[in-house]
Amino acid sequence: MIEKLPNENGYFGEYGGSFVPENLQGVLNEITAAYMQVKEDRSFQDELTYLYRHYVGRPSPVYPAKKLSEVIGGAQIFLKREDLNHTGAHKINHCLGEALLAKRMGKKKVIAETGAGQHGVALATAAALVGLECDIYMGEIDIAKEHPNVVRMKILGATVVPVSGGRKTLKDAVDAAFISYLNDPVTQFYAIGSVVGPHPFPMMVRDFQSVVGREAKEQFRELTGKLPDHLVACVGGGSNAMGLFTAFLDDAGVEMHGVEPSGIGFKVGEHAATLTLGTPGVLHGFRSYLLQDEKGEALPVYSVASGLDYPGVGPQHSYLKDIKRVQYHCASDREAIDAFYLLSRKEGIIPALESAHAVAYARKLALEIDKDKTILVNLSGRGDKDIDFVVEKYGIPE
Ligand SMILES: *Cc1c(COP(=O)(O)O)cnc(C)c1O
Repeated sequence: MIEKLPNENGYFGEYGGSFVPENLQGVLNEITAAYMQVKEDRSFQDELTYLYRHYVGRPSPVYPAKKLSEVIGGAQIFLKREDLNHTGAHKINHCLGEALLAKRMGKKKVIAETGAGQHGVALATAAALVGLECDIYMGEIDIAKEHPNVVRMKILGATVVPVSGGRKTLKDAVDAAFISYLNDPVTQFYAIGSVVGPHPFPMMVRDFQSVVGREAKEQFRELTGKLPDHLVACVGGGSNAMGLFTAFLDDAGVEMHGVEPSGIGFKVGEHAATLTLGTPGVLHGFRSYLLQDEKGEALPVYSVASGLDYPGVGPQHSYLKDIKRVQYHCASDREAIDAFYLLSRKEGIIPALESAHAVAYARKLALEIDKDKTILVNLSGRGDKDIDFVVEKYGIPE
């Protein structure tokens, strides 16, 4: 039973765990205990379910993308519309959970890193709602690229802390947020933005996101009378993918595909294809596949989608890769941009660049399998945040 993982030390097979300084381990143990308690607590779960429904707008629909499927000319593609959530992506699902937990634990402030700004906006939103202070660490390159999200966070009352170290992107923002957390882990709660970091975060964020797959399973059955043949989701840290996959892990007939960004090529610094090209190691307090040099230092990564350019990946994905329960593939910048425009033009849905990677792979997969097969894609977010960047860099096709 894959669903029972991780074990009590936070391991998925040989991946996960907690590699942190001793003083932080004490705080993480408190978070684990508090989380295990709210997991079984009716009033906590009811409050979260209430907010999912009346605040986020859940359940998000499953939409049969008939025009897209037709123009591709292969299998039938369906979209789980996480782009329709309040704040425009799946991240609000775990941010609300983490903010409610932080509040229950008596924390004053939530802090986090952000790449595309989606996690920052989602957390700033949850903090405003729940009544917590909020500091968001963001690389300077991402600040320039994702201007609207920076403004949103400030409007919501959060403090955006620019990070000028390293390559000034997501990994450096994680480093900076981590240092701040080490300095004050008592009044602050580090609301990690994906299924990464030390135990209990990979488990906790997965559990909060698993609402996506539970809903999708029921909705898909209602639409088709069956389960989907294939699931497809993009993988940065891997939270939207785990959100979709978890409810189906024990359904042997459902094949699962994670899609990583191959950016502009397979040389160092051109991609962020961690599971495809990485090796096991330790980064940011957990063991997983990593893009690393001989000394175990994280390598530079790149993707057109800021939310995907991270040199690590959630430990459960590393495990699922090794046991071959999930297959991992790549989509390039170019394929993602093409999919971005295809979905916009054929269905009137502008996807986030991250999600466009999943659409790009689904497009290939649809042509490799029988036409009567079904593919359920997690459309993790909407593309409003990306439109200026895409049009400036790639232009608008005829
Ligand atoms: C952040 C983000 C991702 C990548 O994060 P995961 O943890 O891999 O899901 C994907 N899609 C969108 C829209 C995002 O904002």
